[in-house]
Amino acid sequence: MTNTSLGKILDSACRSIQNQIGSGKVANYIPALARVDIKKFGAAILTLNGESAFFGDAYESFSIQSISKVFSLTLVLNQIGDKLWKRVHHEPSGNAFNSIVQLEMERGIPRNPFINAGALVLSDILLKDRTPEASIQTILNFLHEISGEGRIGINHEVAISELENAHRNASLVHFMKSCNNIENTVSDVLEVYCNHCSISMSCEELSRSMLFLAKEGFDPISNKRIISPELARRINSIMMLCGHYDASGDFAYRVGLPGKSGVGGGIVAIVPDVGVITVWSPGLNNNGNSLVGTSALEAIARISNWNIL
Ligand code: GLU
Repeated sequence: MTNTSLGKILDSACRSIQNQIGSGKVANYIPALARVDIKKFGAAILTLNGESAFFGDAYESFSIQSISKVFSLTLVLNQIGDKLWKRVHHEPSGNAFNSIVQLEMERGIPRNPFINAGALVLSDILLKDRTPEASIQTILNFLHEISGEGRIGINHEVAISELENAHRNASLVHFMKSCNNIENTVSDVLEVYCNHCSISMSCEELSRSMLFLAKEGFDPISNKRIISPELARRINSIMMLCGHYDASGDFAYRVGLPGKSGVGGGIVAIVPDVGVITVWSPGLNNNGNSLVGTSALEAIARISNWNIL
């Protein structure tokens, strides 16, 4: 495929959903996110062959929120490998991203690393032998390496807003600590988690940073192996089954690609052996996933005929 045909695919897909832009509701439980313009829309495709296509606000930074959990999962799998699965399962949750109910029934072992409880355990593991500041810096260094962009950082206004309103996440950590599934202090775990959720990146940067997942763990930007092929496949499987919380089945049905969403309105989808698509539209559906972003990815997958099935 050439840059022109890639551009045509992205253009016609994005134009087909243009009348939906502005739909959905911005996340309002984090006040700093409630102020984002709902009419923003961006998309970026980067391929392993070095081709690229962009649409709309593709270069504008936004709060990546739960998309950051893909990066923390990669770091944790490299740190402790399959031992992770003693503390977090890899099953779809069928529940909201911040649900408390299931965690009690399952004795403090989260269903998967992408629901909030699971990602909070990842933060706890990243804190092993590190201060909260060093753990956050480890995530940022990793992002700088895989994106080739040293300026990626945290939006401190969002981080403070998240920390001030982290009552539900705090209750998840407290409960898991009571089940002996958290080793560090509740406030240290929340500090790492809320800061990595508050990282700002553009669609272009996100697509670039996740190319290693389209290439079995090998990053074509830094020319380095980021993770083993086996673990890269596992991350993609978890994205396929758990990347969209209780709407993961609907996303797989409509898009057919492993993906991860965040309440900032971004979604990243991996096309194995081809490349990465990122879309951003801040209006969310009832499950906390970008409403227009999901439609855009559905259109891109349909027009390009990319799917893993
Ligand atoms: N920081 C958000 C939270 O903890 C992440 C949720 C999301 O992006 O889905 O609620």
